[in-house]
Amino acid sequence: MIRLERLKNRILRMAEIGGTENNGVTRLALSQEDKKGRDLFVKWMKELKLDVRIDDFGNIYGRKKGSNPEAPVVMMGSHLDSVPKGGRFDGVLGVLAGLEVVESLIENNVEHENPIEIVSFTNEEGARFTPQMLGSGAVTNQFPKDYTYSRKDNDNFIFYEELERIGYLGKEENRLKNVGTFIEFHIEQGPVLETNNKAIGIVEGISGFSWLEVTVTGETNHSGSTPMELRKDALSTTATTIQTIQKWAEEKEDGTVATIGTIRAEPGIINAVPGKVVFTLDVRDRNKEQFHFYMNEIQELIKDCVQRDSLNCTIQEIKTHSPVSFAPWITNIIEEVSAESKVPYQRITSGAGHDAMYLNTVADTAMIFVPSIGGKSHCEEEYTPWEDIEKGINVLYKTICRILTSEKFKDQFLSTRI
Ligand SMILES: [Zn+2]
Repeated sequence: MIRLERLKNRILRMAEIGGTENNGVTRLALSQEDKKGRDLFVKWMKELKLDVRIDDFGNIYGRKKGSNPEAPVVMMGSHLDSVPKGGRFDGVLGVLAGLEVVESLIENNVEHENPIEIVSFTNEEGARFTPQMLGSGAVTNQFPKDYTYSRKDNDNFIFYEELERIGYLGKEENRLKNVGTFIEFHIEQGPVLETNNKAIGIVEGISGFSWLEVTVTGETNHSGSTPMELRKDALSTTATTIQTIQKWAEEKEDGTVATIGTIRAEPGIINAVPGKVVFTLDVRDRNKEQFHFYMNEIQELIKDCVQRDSLNCTIQEIKTHSPVSFAPWITNIIEEVSAESKVPYQRITSGAGHDAMYLNTVADTAMIFVPSIGGKSHCEEEYTPWEDIEKGINVLYKTICRILTSEKFKDQFLSTRI
């Protein structure tokens, strides 16, 4: 069993670094605060005599050796960076949950063959350097090294130089390798678990998403002298289109969500019919088989809507990522353990991206969620009850123990993917 007091002290200690007035944190990637947070994490791992290493993207690993150094690595972790005025739990919880599990394994003298590693990935939030999940993406070959190194923040500080400045530019040979399983413990960042009164969510995968920029073109004209029936009002047509999009998403049953996050009408003056509107659309859906069909369907729907009013539109795809499914054999273990421990749980899909998404390309991966009160996250009010954290990390601890003795694990991972 894990020790909640010890974990709680660590979370509160970490929250002091970059702490804000209202119990939040600002610890942007590769800032002074991030450096201090990293230093503290490294210190804690060294106190437990873990082998600490830093890779060439600043990802930090701590290894507890097993009896067989060649066996696939059992990995846990998340990230220590935050958004501006973010919460204390996002990311930090997954890193320190890993540390707590490892310390408990040491205390309980659990013997194991596989190496166990804790990891903290660089710049998960993407709040300072875009895109998000840069460290986990780079180390799993989703982004070229040059691309990662040359990312700039809003003040033109360069990722590579900042990494070097804070003393966390490590070596390529230190990258993760021979990873068998990865589990990320994370707050839900949504209202579902709290609403359903569940202590944990067993995450089956991450929704796919498509980001689009839609331009609707009509005709700009005088607002007083153009009769209604002779207008080509791009904003009016956009309004109907948005309602159609919302209705489409509401009628889908795959955790489908559609968000129009930005909208701009031109010329944008009070006495002119808007001749042009540009809006963005973020659509997410978890249905792996139907995902591309749905993303096509919504684009056709938008075009139909606009054409019905005899206006034109163009749709530009900004970014699309298919849904991710986690390893069923691990989610099944998490479910078994939760049921045996009488922890109220449910299966859930993550609507948000996480480092686990990229780790899933190289290892058998899963996530465990704990509730976010009021569904709040990326804000200072972010909170998760300590008793839920305790239940969740005990489930994580038992899951790791079961993975370490799983026959499936031994058979399947004679060769790992990275
Ligand atoms: Zn996070």
